[in-house]
Amino acid sequence: MADVSLTHIYKVYPNGTKAVNDFNMQIRDKEFIVFVGPSGCGKSTTLRMIAGLEDISAGELKIGDLIVNDMEPKDRDIAMVFQNYALYPHMTVYENIAFGLRLRKLPKDEIHRKVCEAAEILGITEYLNKKPKEMSGGQRQRVALGRAIVREPKVMLLDEPLSNLDAKLRTQMRAEIGKLHARLKTTFIYVTHDQVEAMTMGTRIVVMKDGFVQQIDTPKNLYNYPGNKFVAGFIGTPQMNFFEGTLLKKGDNVLIKFEYTDAQITVPYSLLYKAKPSYLDGQKVVYIGLRPEDISLAPEDVKNNKAVVKVVVSHKEDLGSETLVYGDINPDGDGYVESSTRIIIKDNSGRDLQAGDVVEAALNIERVHLFDKETEESVLPRVPEYNYLDCEVKKGKLKFLGAEVELPEAVQTDDLKGELLLPTNAVTLGGNLQAELVSCEEINGVYLLSLTLGGKRLYAVSHEAVEKKSVGIGIDFKKITVTADGETKISPMPELNCFDCKFVKQKTREEVEVKGKLKKKKVVRFGFAAHDAFFEASDEMSQKIFAALGIKGAHTTALRMECDAYHLAVSENGIAAEALETLDYGTEKFLKCKVGENTVYVKTDTDYSGNICLLPDFEHIGIVEIEREIKII
Ligand code: ADP
Repeated sequence: MADVSLTHIYKVYPNGTKAVNDFNMQIRDKEFIVFVGPSGCGKSTTLRMIAGLEDISAGELKIGDLIVNDMEPKDRDIAMVFQNYALYPHMTVYENIAFGLRLRKLPKDEIHRKVCEAAEILGITEYLNKKPKEMSGGQRQRVALGRAIVREPKVMLLDEPLSNLDAKLRTQMRAEIGKLHARLKTTFIYVTHDQVEAMTMGTRIVVMKDGFVQQIDTPKNLYNYPGNKFVAGFIGTPQMNFFEGTLLKKGDNVLIKFEYTDAQITVPYSLLYKAKPSYLDGQKVVYIGLRPEDISLAPEDVKNNKAVVKVVVSHKEDLGSETLVYGDINPDGDGYVESSTRIIIKDNSGRDLQAGDVVEAALNIERVHLFDKETEESVLPRVPEYNYLDCEVKKGKLKFLGAEVELPEAVQTDDLKGELLLPTNAVTLGGNLQAELVSCEEINGVYLLSLTLGGKRLYAVSHEAVEKKSVGIGIDFKKITVTADGETKISPMPELNCFDCKFVKQKTREEVEVKGKLKKKKVVRFGFAAHDAFFEASDEMSQKIFAALGIKGAHTTALRMECDAYHLAVSENGIAAEALETLDYGTEKFLKCKVGENTVYVKTDTDYSGNICLLPDFEHIGIVEIEREIKII
């Protein structure tokens, strides 16, 4: 039983294929995690890195409390089940299951007890004396599972274990593996390309594409709140409908016009509070996503719904309990081809529809999904990153949502009328502005607070639940952006300071004490040369650098050291910098400095000027390989 933690895990194969990029996840003990995505997305590579069958290019992998990057597979306390069973053909089922235990020289009676117990759990007791070739695919996979469970691993890894089985057996084995997980109470990590398998088995699912994690969430949340168009399309059958259209805010409503057709609907603006205003200008085209089950042809739904579109029916698929109706919202369209007007509807109304019929379809717009046309990211993210607000600056005061706050010295600007980009994590709790709490929702470990200020919506994120109806809020001014007339008037302070650096070997002659006498000796040290300073690296850091870049590459590769303003201090020695000015943000002060071409910020309450030195806190730095953008530390 163990947690598994993956931190900034990368895999670059020797031929340059970047199979896994910056994989971050905390897998809790006893979870059933499924990695899912199309072929080649990097799911097996990730699993094989956890198993120890593949080297990790960069990042840290922990099983329980141990970093296992360099640990042999056999020492990792994991068991793996493969698609092709990997059974020994000349051994009986009993011998196959017992094999690993015999290697580990367990007493005979203990082996016998474990094999019988596993066979019992898996329902293969009567086959124990048979050879694998006498068994069906499903039975062979049970033997492979048996071999894994007798090892009582901390983590069970399964790589497409059911893909060699026929559909019926797959469904049955799916349920059995679920039962096995419940019984063994062990962490399971399961790889599949089949979204139905993922949705029915996982407590949480990792959706991957092209080596990148797209979303990590529960099956329900992936289905209800896909973060991008890829996840939206990958989860759910038949696939979500994707139309193209524009959104125009008119008072309390938004007019949605569909492209390539005259269809249009009006929806309440309250459903689109989280959207950036620029999406509501009637110009910007977005993808409008609706699942087939969120569209209805039932007359009572059509009668009671304002969001109704006309559909020309092209054909249908009768599935017994329901019918899939295919059609088009463009009268000249063809419901056979996937397009921006093709529509698929799950119909339970029992209506007898014929090709060419024109019907009215009610769209359940409470369940609409919107995606940016270029980035394909959700326009309505569950946890919005920003509040987009109109604002005014007058005599050093910032006015927004009917509130007025004094701008601190660091963010002064001339009088203006413009837009305020206020990150949700820049709305702090405990300030002087009084907001009303509408809701507090826990979303993957953070709390999203829906507030109203001056009667208008304002979102904030918090790490604690909030219950009070009236909440005092403030603003972290170093995170805000103010624009006016297309120009940025106030910019946020960068979250990270960057220094160019190299990993170097330093040879010195130093006096060392040998048997009570001081002697000169050659000493070799590894460390980071950042500008003109040298910082000795810990053994752990050096190992990570060598693992990621190799012995030769370690010293030739251009690196970037990253460090935030809170973990950088003015010191007697370190990186030479020029102090430019002190920025007063009201509650905090920062020193703005120049290091070479870079501007960096240091949290300090003391005023400095001229030449100074900066010392990063090595417990809190990041090291990134610039060319491949790989975070090594
Ligand atoms: P999946 O399991 O999602 O189908 P993989 O993890 O097997 O994907 O592969 C991810 C990517 O890495 C693919 O582009 C694949 O071609 C590549 N790849 C896998 N193994 C190797 C290898 N040994 N050498 C080079 N490239 C590889």
